[in-house]
Amino acid sequence: MLLEVKGLNTFYGNLHAIWDIDIQVHEKEIVALIGSNGAGKSTLLKTIAGSLPMQSGEIIYQGERFNPGHKRKANVMVHKGITLCPEGRHIFPRMTVAENLKRGGYIRQKGDMEAGFDRVYDLFPRLKERDGQMAGTLSGGEQQMLAIGRALMSGPKLLMLDEPSLGLSPLLTEKLFELILEIRNQGTTILLVEQNAVSALSIANRGYVLKVGHITQSGTGQELLESQDILASYLGA
Ligand code: ATP
Repeated sequence: MLLEVKGLNTFYGNLHAIWDIDIQVHEKEIVALIGSNGAGKSTLLKTIAGSLPMQSGEIIYQGERFNPGHKRKANVMVHKGITLCPEGRHIFPRMTVAENLKRGGYIRQKGDMEAGFDRVYDLFPRLKERDGQMAGTLSGGEQQMLAIGRALMSGPKLLMLDEPSLGLSPLLTEKLFELILEIRNQGTTILLVEQNAVSALSIANRGYVLKVGHITQSGTGQELLESQDILASYLGA
């Protein structure tokens, strides 16, 4: 088991955003988190990443236990191998593609940085072609690739992707899901938040459904795809 979340609760002030969440992620799995807007998906990822504090519960990562008493910082979790690629990309528009990637690889040793670039440019040849271009001038799809590439530069064991298909055309979305599979096949475990439930569940080993802060269903990707409840609620059937 790579990651286990037990009884996790996160608040924004008085707002109780996620309630008693239990999830498990095994090595080299793709695990999908689906649910409608405001269900708490981003909150869960941010809490795991250490950018939001947990109110109660436990996060066990590679056997190391984190509870509310720990002063976890997101950069410490990056060093431990957990990287979040946030919703909305948040690339640096006035920096070049290569500079953005270098920022993502800040934890790497000098010699190791090259290996990071090689992996990212191999996955996303378009980024290599544009390595000297200002990131803000890239197309939406290229910016999304850059955001994922930058997250990969830290060499994560667990890559968390928050809504990577947002704003992409159906064709680019299809390509993106192929790339997510490829990243997993290279050995990176993936926790994937998606509105695009069919595509996400189609590539996921397992999935969880979040509804107003609670997990209401879990199963293999295939089981969830076949669930009448999910078909009705999330897949527009
Ligand atoms: P979306 O895809 O729309 O972001 P989500 O499932 O990721 O949906 P969250 O963003 O985690 O949902 O939001 C969960 C709840 O927490 C919602 O009620 C939301 O309004 C609230 N929330 C999110 N961020 C904040 C914040 N910074 N301050 C206060 N409340 C917040």
